[in-house]
Amino acid sequence: MTSHALADLPLARSSVARAAQLREVPDVIAHALADTRTRVLAVRDGGLLLAEAEAEADVTGAVLRWLDADAARDLLAAADGPDAPHAAVTGPDPEAWLLLGAEDDGACVLAVRLPDRHPLPARGEPADVLVHLPDGPVARGSWRSLRTVGAALPAHDAGLATAAVALDTWHDRHPRCPRCGTPTRVAQAGWSRVCDVDGSEHYPRTDPAVIMAVVDDADRLLLGHATAWQAGRWSTLAGFVEAGESAEQAVRREVHEETGVLVGDVEYAGSQPWPFPGSLMLGFRARATSTLVQVDGVEMADARWFTRDGLASAVASGEVLLPGPTSIARALVEQWFGRPIAG
Ligand SMILES: [Zn+2]
Repeated sequence: MTSHALADLPLARSSVARAAQLREVPDVIAHALADTRTRVLAVRDGGLLLAEAEAEADVTGAVLRWLDADAARDLLAAADGPDAPHAAVTGPDPEAWLLLGAEDDGACVLAVRLPDRHPLPARGEPADVLVHLPDGPVARGSWRSLRTVGAALPAHDAGLATAAVALDTWHDRHPRCPRCGTPTRVAQAGWSRVCDVDGSEHYPRTDPAVIMAVVDDADRLLLGHATAWQAGRWSTLAGFVEAGESAEQAVRREVHEETGVLVGDVEYAGSQPWPFPGSLMLGFRARATSTLVQVDGVEMADARWFTRDGLASAVASGEVLLPGPTSIARALVEQWFGRPIAG
């Protein structure tokens, strides 16, 4: 068994520097939009614009549809119609643009946030999209959710797409000051919001959750089937960290609440941003000190200990459906298993 941390989780990879120092530069978005090197990805409601129209069941080879500043502005303008104030007069709308980072050569990487009124299908559902590009009349793209395509994106794109979706969702859900209720304004090129009434600053929320591979003395893995899941879906146990609780305490509490199993040693294994809508999944390996399973019947419908052979044959027969390849849950299961599991 390996004891090192999980590596290369799909949503946690990117080679682009976040370049936080640029966020404070005055008019940095306007400067970036005037730079022909700038590249922009489009995001709305958990969805991303991809380069090709993918077959629904096949997202392998997914690549973001990177836009230059003009194409991104055109796409944004499609939401507003001909009577909207022209951005050349008013400057870029701070609500619409996020500075994700900078490439090694200094080129900025932005996201454009398309509003709900934009004539694209909602919620990142699969859809063909026509993108008007300055260097050609039109390009095809497809609109897919990060949740669907995250594992298939190249490392360079995956981390940027994750940050874009996380920020976009946070802005959507937190338009007002939590102290006084006043609408806030975007600051730091999309990385914070400020209340002009009481001067408070607000940053994207990240809610910590724990997810754990619980193993007993016989080296069996505990997997659960939640009441809300489709038949056959099994995964590692998980839950949110409560106020005033450590991650290790949360691991022990959640496992006991959901299955009645007691946990002793808890070892950190790695983490993964999970912006659906705003979680950080903290992965652990946990050692059970009891094996009797009694599910709560509320969140957890069933829980079982699996041997490696038992899990392999249950997956092969279709009796067990494991979590998707994007997830840290799958990585934890496969780390225990010792290699990738087909299916
Ligand atoms: Zn306020």
